Amino acid sequence: MSGSSNHFDLLIIGSGPAGFTAAIYGTRGGLKTGLLGGAAPGGQLLNTTEIENFPGFETPVNGPDLMIHMLNQAKRLGTEVFQEDAVKVDFKASPFAVTGSSARIYTARAVIAATGARARWLGLPSEKKYLGKGVSGCATCDGFFYRGKEVCVVGGGDTAAEDALFLTKFASRVYLVHRRDQLRANFRLQEKLKAHPKIEIIYDSTPEEMLGDARLTSVKIKNVKTGAARELIVTGAFIAIGHTPETAIFEGRLKLDEAGYILTDGHTKTSLPGVFAAGDVMDRYYKQAVVAAGSGCMAAMEAEKYLENSK
Ligand code: NAP
Repeated sequence: MSGSSNHFDLLIIGSGPAGFTAAIYGTRGGLKTGLLGGAAPGGQLLNTTEIENFPGFETPVNGPDLMIHMLNQAKRLGTEVFQEDAVKVDFKASPFAVTGSSARIYTARAVIAATGARARWLGLPSEKKYLGKGVSGCATCDGFFYRGKEVCVVGGGDTAAEDALFLTKFASRVYLVHRRDQLRANFRLQEKLKAHPKIEIIYDSTPEEMLGDARLTSVKIKNVKTGAARELIVTGAFIAIGHTPETAIFEGRLKLDEAGYILTDGHTKTSLPGVFAAGDVMDRYYKQAVVAAGSGCMAAMEAEKYLENSK
């Protein structure tokens, strides 16, 4: 079906679980499938050390290892994987055109946007230093490792509240550090937080520094109103201050919601026929690898149907 080596039936942008699952389904569906995966294919799971909640692994799987398996599986089935970012998309006419960071132009009749979302970080140098060594962006992924330990969660939204409640299953004490005097989390979650004997909410405070040796041992926080400093003796710090979807290249081309996530029809169709979205780039809520993989499958099946019907 392709005219040139850069032309595909289906082009996938992104190399997390959504992108690779879409690639596996697209290729197995008989589509000439290309995937732009960035310089280091793998997405957010490259930052996760041990994954225990992705079905199929009896013992925890290392994030980068899981992604290598997905990459190799997609390649073995015939997906062409390109190690460059998509820097521009042209969706004005079919076939759609996507420009890579090398300036190479790829064309395809169907595109799946699976560019993900990146967890927001505080931006402290010490936060970076202890990432994966006590500092985490995912309580669901890493909470289990803090059984009997004291931890803190930073943020005041639904995610921070849910993370704090989830962590009480393992941790002996959970500090919730929020920068304002009011939580953003919904009322029900707030009630639960306030009633929980293991949770202490610390208002008007932000982390100043993460301290430790090989691993995190404490977090220095400061009250933004009084300037008072306090050191929380914690071995885990969960940063839950929101996510930013990676949708810059789609702005003005696809309908996005107010937070920048790609709007879909409830499944994976975007506002533009032939362009589908899967994974965290269209998922404000779950942000789980297995959910992203599931939506990658859905997007590829919808793309297949679209290509079949628009021949
Ligand atoms: P969010 O609602 O954007 O909340 C982010 C929180 O982090 C806010 O409390 C914010 O403080 C704080 N924050 C942001 N930048 C910060 C910084 N630099 N330093 C310190 N604190 C900072 O994000 P989210 O909680 O991840 O939720 C995202 C969306 O998913 C929301 O629409 C939420 O309702 C939804 N969600 C729903 C559920 C559920 O319904 N079960 C579960 C999870 C998420 P301010 O309050 O001062 O802005």
